[in-house]
This record gives sequence, structure tokens and C-alpha cells, in this order.
Amino acid sequence: MRTKVALSACPDYSPANIQAAIAKLLGDLGGIATWVRPGQTVLLKPNLLSARTPDRAVTTHPEVVRAMIRAVKAAGASPIVADSACNAIQIERVWDKTGFKAMCGEESVPLVNLEKSSSVQFNWAGVVYSVAKPVLDAALVINMPKLKTHMLTVLTNAVKNMYGTLPGFQKTILHKQYPTPNQFCAFLAALYARVKPGLTISDAVIAMAGNGPTSGDLTHLGFLAGSPDGVALDAALCHILKIPLNKVPYLGSLQRAGVGTADWSQIEMVGNVPLPLQRPPFHIPVTASLLNQIPIWLLKLVAPYVWIRPAFTARCVKCGLCVKACPVKALRLNEGPMPVLTPTACIGCCCCHEVCPERAVEMTQSFLLNLRKRGKLPS
Ligand code: SF4
Ligand code: SF4
Repeated sequence: MRTKVALSACPDYSPANIQAAIAKLLGDLGGIATWVRPGQTVLLKPNLLSARTPDRAVTTHPEVVRAMIRAVKAAGASPIVADSACNAIQIERVWDKTGFKAMCGEESVPLVNLEKSSSVQFNWAGVVYSVAKPVLDAALVINMPKLKTHMLTVLTNAVKNMYGTLPGFQKTILHKQYPTPNQFCAFLAALYARVKPGLTISDAVIAMAGNGPTSGDLTHLGFLAGSPDGVALDAALCHILKIPLNKVPYLGSLQRAGVGTADWSQIEMVGNVPLPLQRPPFHIPVTASLLNQIPIWLLKLVAPYVWIRPAFTARCVKCGLCVKACPVKALRLNEGPMPVLTPTACIGCCCCHEVCPERAVEMTQSFLLNLRKRGKLPS
């Protein structure tokens, strides 16, 4: 039997439209009773990457999660909302700015700080990592990502959103342990296989293309997407947005591990969004795919010519969040107007870019990568 992926048209974030779109989506996937049982604790995991207002399309829109909270309650279960921001700093500020503190208060639903919960350790390929216990304890995890591009993983949606189940600074430390996109994506795939959510509902009403996950181009797609298989969901979105599957390394890792399906012939598209989408291909960052084509030994040799690094703009208010977020201590604050980078230490993980609340960090790329971007080098 093919795996269902549903698309539900939704022109904007008005509560009425979102609730109608969620109802349609759940109906097309078989009805919420397929997953949710009365009395269960259901953990909703949005993408609360950093402290941005919902209109910036960096985080899952709170109205989408509100509609899901109501659907879960109507099925007789108890929803909680939980996430860990891209680093462990100032999570309350993230809740405030993203609108989740207000929304969860209005809905009388606990907003769980995964930074403060206990965790369970696992070992993958010799590396120990910890997953927040509330995620493992919940009867059902409903994954609620925002559809965006990502400079390291190319796509961030169902699979990448599970990275937020890792509490604390390990999120930045793991970037140091897996410095290339392929290595990082292999870990990401292992993590997804471990915490596999029962259902994923993705916010693609306004998505982000280009230099995501924080400074890309806002792109109106006008739908919610859902599936019980997050791998199939990500693969289907790649297919309909014309993103080559081989540009998203974690999909290959999951296929090799036998988790989910990325095979278009095994996916059944349902819903009320006409396909194929009448829009140009989704613009994705080129950096990760080029870095993945270069063997690690060669990457070390050509490192002076192949890199992505942060550049700081006049928006900087010297809050220091990027300095704290950098896993390799490549940034420092001194008397100057903005952080100072030690280029040879930078691993291009984008954590500073993700955490900056002022959009003051632009990821720049070397001359060689720029040539590739302009089509002067083979892809
Ligand atoms: S670049 Fe952003 S995060 Fe870093 S110090 Fe400036 S404002 Fe803060
Ligand atoms: S400077 Fe930014 S991109 Fe470079 S390693 Fe530190 S956090 Fe990552």
C-alpha cells in the first residue's frame, strides 16, 4: 500500500482558514482517531528555531499549532507543546516573540521547556546524544515543522525538525562532531529513526526559499502538508517543489536504513491542491550540495577556497547570542561594533545565523562556491 501525503489548501493564517485546512488534512489522512486516543498525552513539536515573529516565516505559525491543539482536545486527548530552540539561550524570549506563550496560554496548554526536562542517552556510531524525556514519554508525537530551505541540510521540514528534541548545547556540539553536510545528515537520519513521530503536519502556507533557515525569501505556497511518514512528506515536497532528492542527504541515509519511503512511486498524493504546482522551482542553497561532492581529505586541502562563513552587518546590537551559540568558539566580542570571526576555526554550521535575533548575520561563501552558484562549475 502506498504512503499517503496530503496537501490542504490554505490561503493565509486566519484562524478560520487554518482550522478548515487542518480538518480537511486530517480527514484526507484517515481522521484524527487514526492516531489519537482519548486520555493520551500528545506532544506537539513545532519549529521554534529562534526569537522571530510569526510573519518572518522562521518558526511554525502559532495558528497552525492552535488548530492542532483543538483537534487533539476534541479527540479526548491532552496536548502539550514542546521544543528546544536552536541553542539553550533565552527560550522564554523565543516563546514570547513567536507568539507561542500567548497562544498556549489562551488554549490552556502546557508549553514545555525541553531544556529543563530530563533526557535519555543514546549512542550512535560511538557518539552519545540525549533526547528529551517528554518526547520519549508521550503516547504520540505530532511533528509540526515549518517548510524552509537550510544552508547545511538543503531542506528543513519533517526530519530536520526532530533536531529540536535534543536539549541543551549538544545541538551546537554535534555540529562540531559532524562538520560536513553528509555527516550531519547521517546523524539527523539516525535521530529521526529514534524519535520517529506518529504524524507530521507541516506549515507551508508561507515557506522560506533561498538562504534559509532564517534569512531566506518568504514564499507563499498556500497549503498545509501532512503524512504519518515524515520521510515521505519531505520527499513528496521535494518532488512537487522540484528539489532533486539527491540534494537532501538525510533522505538517502533514511532510505538506506529502511526508515520511511522517499520513493515517489510509493507515495499517494491526496488533498485539494492541484498538482503539479504552477510555480517556478523552489530556490535552494547550493553550498551543501557542493561541499558534499568533495572528499573530506580534499576538502581539508581546498578549505581556504571552499567555505561558507558569517558576515556581520550594521543591524548587530552586540547581544552576544551568536558568540555563545558557536560550537567551535570561532567568534568573540571585543571593542568593535560587531563580533569578530576567526575564519580558520569556523566550520560553517550556520548556528550564529540561526540564533541572531536581528538578522545581522549573513552567510557568505567563497569565490569557488560563488562560481558554482553562477553555474560556472558542474553541479
Ligand atoms: S550578530 Fe546578532 S546574535 Fe551576534 S551579537 Fe550581533 S545581534 Fe547578537
Ligand atoms: S562562526 Fe557561525 S558558522 Fe562559523 S562555526 Fe561558529 S556558529 Fe558556525
